[in-house]
Amino acid sequence: SINPSDMLLVLLVLLQLLALASCAPPRCDPAVREDRCPEIAKTYSIGRSLEGRELLVIEFSNNPGHHELLEPEIKFIGNMHGNEVLGRQLLIYLAQSLCSEYLQGDERIQTLVNTSRIHILPSMNPDGYELAVSRLQERMGRNNAQNIDLNRNFPDLTSVVYNRRRQKGYRTDHIPIPDYYWFGKVAPETYAVMKWIRSIPFVLSASFHGGDLVVSYPYDMSKHPLEHNMLSPTPDDKVSEALQALQAHHPHSRAMV
Ligand SMILES: [Zn+2]
Repeated sequence: SINPSDMLLVLLVLLQLLALASCAPPRCDPAVREDRCPEIAKTYSIGRSLEGRELLVIEFSNNPGHHELLEPEIKFIGNMHGNEVLGRQLLIYLAQSLCSEYLQGDERIQTLVNTSRIHILPSMNPDGYELAVSRLQERMGRNNAQNIDLNRNFPDLTSVVYNRRRQKGYRTDHIPIPDYYWFGKVAPETYAVMKWIRSIPFVLSASFHGGDLVVSYPYDMSKHPLEHNMLSPTPDDKVSEALQALQAHHPHSRAMV
C-alpha cells in the first residue's frame, strides 16, 4: 500500500502535470511568470476565448495592479489573427526582456517601467493559434473558433466621429457604440478587449500582425462607411506619424503592426 506522504507527493506531481497541460501563454512560459519580477509585474486575465482559454495579460509597472495619476497606460496586443505568430512571440520576448533588464539595472528599462504601465496580451486569439499549430495549413486559425475575423469585429466608429464633426461641441472620445453593432455577432475575445479598453485609460496601443509590411494608421477605416481608401486621420495624427516614422527608420524594422 502507499503511505500518506507518498500519496501527497503523487498528488502534487499530478497537479503539476495538470497545471502544465492546461497552461496558456504567457503563464506556461516560466521565464515570463510574474514571480520572477513580483515587484514590477503582474498577470491577470481579461476573459476567456470561445473555447475557454484565458486571455492572459502581463503588466509591468512600479506599482502593478494600480492606475497612478499621470502615468501613461500602454497596451500591446499580439496574435489577434491566430496564425500570425510573430507578434505573439515578440511580445513574450518583450515581457522577458523588461523583467530581466529591470533586474539587471538597465536605466532605460527601469525609467520606462517606473514612469508608465505596460500591458501585454501576447495572444488575443489562442483558439485560432491552437488550430494553426495543429493543422499546419495555410490561413488556418486566422479567425476565432466561431470563424470570426477579430480584426473586423470591433465597432467602426470612424464614420460616426466624422458625422459628428459638424455638430456643436462634438468630441472624439467616449463615442457611444451604435445599437446596431450589438445585433451582429460579437466574439467573446472582442468583447473582452472592449471591456479591457473601458476599464483602463490607455493612451498608446499597438496590435501586431504578420505577413506583410504595413503600418495601419488609426482610425484605420474610411471617413465614409461606403467608400474605401478615404483618409481619416485622428486628431492626434501627428503623434501617429512620428511614431510610425520612428519604427520605419529603425534599423531592425520588419513586417509589423
Ligand atoms: Zn493580421
